[in-house]
Amino acid sequence: MALIVQKFGGTSVGDVERIRNVARRVVATVDAGNEVAVVVSAMAGETNALVKLAREVAGGPPPPREYDVLVATGEQKTSALLSMAIQALGRRARSFSGAQIGMRTDASHTRARIESVDAAKIRSVLRDGVVAVIAGFQGIDEEGNITTLGRGASDTSAVAVAAALGADVCEINTDVEGVFTSDPNLVPAARKLDRIAYDEMLEMASLGAKVLQRRSVLFAKRFGIPIHVRSSFSEAEGTWVLAEENVMERLVVSGVTYDRNEAKVRVRGVKDQPGVAAAVFELLAQADIVVDMIVQNLGHDGTTDMTFTVPLGDYERALEITRGCISKIGAEAIDGDDTIAKVSIVGLGMKDHAGVAARMFRVLAQEGINIQMISTSEIKTSVVVDEKYTDLAVRALHAAFVESGASEPVPES
Ligand code: ADP
Ligand code: ASP
Ligand code: MG
Repeated sequence: MALIVQKFGGTSVGDVERIRNVARRVVATVDAGNEVAVVVSAMAGETNALVKLAREVAGGPPPPREYDVLVATGEQKTSALLSMAIQALGRRARSFSGAQIGMRTDASHTRARIESVDAAKIRSVLRDGVVAVIAGFQGIDEEGNITTLGRGASDTSAVAVAAALGADVCEINTDVEGVFTSDPNLVPAARKLDRIAYDEMLEMASLGAKVLQRRSVLFAKRFGIPIHVRSSFSEAEGTWVLAEENVMERLVVSGVTYDRNEAKVRVRGVKDQPGVAAAVFELLAQADIVVDMIVQNLGHDGTTDMTFTVPLGDYERALEITRGCISKIGAEAIDGDDTIAKVSIVGLGMKDHAGVAARMFRVLAQEGINIQMISTSEIKTSVVVDEKYTDLAVRALHAAFVESGASEPVPES
């Protein structure tokens, strides 16, 4: 007998028939002799609809506490419906909100962090032979306020429950058959990976592969929980996300990802002297804006240019804050661009292969795509390009690095 946490995403519970399909899958897992805790997302489109409603009624950015109360209802609705569907199949199930299973978080509304989960509570439900159907994406803070954990965070709820229970596996059931070498909805030639290491998956998730929320992978790595990403609509084996030593293949490039959710800010003609970067980035940090890439050009005539990227949702605020310190840092002008995309290649094997980045730049050059910014780490190279080239860049890189299976440098044309 295994202890399994099964998470079902929005598309998987998108309508009545799909909820029934999920109920059958849960029952089959129980009938195979397992203890099962289920974590659900809101039905497809529901969270977006609630966010839109909140903005309309609030007439601007909604107050965070009330926003959380509202958007948490999406997951609550699914948990009740799925519990009913399981009961309709003659099995015992009970729905739980985040608060009811003690999903304790900090008080940062709309992006709260999980602090603890009441594992004893869930265990006692399971011990009675009842399936626990838990609303993902939400928790409760010390004061009893409902919190939510950020978009896509039902994955993180599921892994947190799995970690608290010491589950044998956390299944992420979704609308694709696993983790692919690139987004299968954009790259038809993408192939499913059988296994991927936590660190590689972490990079892919951070760089735009939304099949798993980044924080869910962090949790899984920290607590050694194997994740099995698979389709809600087939029986096929999916992708296992595991510790590096359990992943046999060490591909040079195991994934090509893209992220259209960033914007760049450029500070022109800033004084080339100590303290300028500190002044700008301290203010952004105080505003809780996470800066991703930073490029500072070589100075000339005592001035330099500095460019950085921020999440698209923080773009206007980042521009405003940077403009606010224009005289303090002695900048000539500040401008920005919100029509950019970050395209990345990720692979553990990049650690021991020279020339991978050069080859990436050559492939993009051959497609006539200009690179605006570059950032690298041991296992990834990212570039910022004009958003309109995203699909072309991703497909060209996938063809060059994954479909060809080759890793020799691309010859100069
Ligand atoms: P869910 O609603 O089940 O949480 P998501 O929409 O959040 O599902 O994540 C699944 C989607 O992730 C897929 O439909 C696919 O378009 C996208 N995706 C992006 N990159 C990848 C990748 N490398 N492998 C698999 N899916 C990916
Ligand atoms: N329903 C939430 C969202 O759409 C959480 C999730 O689905 O993971 O972001
Ligand atoms: Mg998701």
